[in-house]
Amino acid sequence: MNEFDLIARYFSTEDCARGVSLGIGDDCCLLQTNNRKMFAVSVDTLVSGVHFPANASAKNIAERALRVCLSDLAAIAAEPKWFTLALTLPDVDESWLKDFSAALKENAELYNCSLVGGDTTKGPLAITLQVMGEVLENEATKRSAACPGDAIYVTGTLGDAAAALAAINGEIEFGQSEMEFLLDRFYRPMPRFYEQNKIRGLINAAIDISDGLLADLKHICDQSHVAAQINLEALPFSDLLEKFPDSARREKWALTGGDDYELCFTVAGKNKKLIDEMTLSGTLNATEIGSIMEGSGVHCYKQDQLIQFEQQGYLHFE
Ligand code: ADP
Ligand code: MG
Repeated sequence: MNEFDLIARYFSTEDCARGVSLGIGDDCCLLQTNNRKMFAVSVDTLVSGVHFPANASAKNIAERALRVCLSDLAAIAAEPKWFTLALTLPDVDESWLKDFSAALKENAELYNCSLVGGDTTKGPLAITLQVMGEVLENEATKRSAACPGDAIYVTGTLGDAAAALAAINGEIEFGQSEMEFLLDRFYRPMPRFYEQNKIRGLINAAIDISDGLLADLKHICDQSHVAAQINLEALPFSDLLEKFPDSARREKWALTGGDDYELCFTVAGKNKKLIDEMTLSGTLNATEIGSIMEGSGVHCYKQDQLIQFEQQGYLHFE
């Protein structure tokens, strides 16, 4: 049983409880407030040795943790406001705490949100952040909103974080400046608030890519009851990966690696022209990679040939 089966079997709720506009199953839940805006909430835990290498610096852990969590707010188009921090520490290391708290504060200021509470316990190093933001209900970009005929886009480039992880794990070697770029991509993902603001009101469904494009786009397909077709030749790569000689490995990193925290979003035909104008003029960093159709599942094509992938993304418990 993977984590999605587990959640579906034991924790999923069919009907929405009082005041819940969007419950379990999306990047954030949406809760009704007394004003026009919805309250968007998401929580994520980062465990040492699972979500970041055990030897990662306190600064790197803090910036990655907050950015990864904020990415869920960006996915649903919510504006970040507040967050809480539950910290589990093996011991009190003041130099670690000084670096961790300074980096957390710096990144919180960068994304305009403030720490408003938390919990501190002793145990193996783990960081849990709950982020809270606000969004107008009709502007929330839910996983369930894709429609047949929509074009599929991704922001930024894919596969860099998985390449970084492969290098960190000693599976591959890169030069020093390449490593600097890759580690930056891994430890400092960019929650795509700027892009979400640009495309506000123009897109249908969205998700942030945490587990890999195939796995995360499949969540959109499952929840929207549609299929997706991706053109593998359109996948956007960084200059570094563009030049990388092993194209099969690069493709695997982009499709199943995860950790990029780019947005995958869908656009109806009537809004496509506006999006394409922005991508062409360079005001929006996004690439069209495929389309939504009737049916189910994510189907990858290269030169009109269907390509099958065994593992679609990262799964805990599998
Ligand atoms: P994301 O990758 O966007 O953080 P997840 O894959 O972690 O989302 O979770 C998928 C959905 O399941 C989310 O809506 C999340 O809130 C919900 N979820 C995960 N674990 C639990 C749990 N133990 N109880 C209730 N809901 C959960
Ligand atoms: Mg997410």
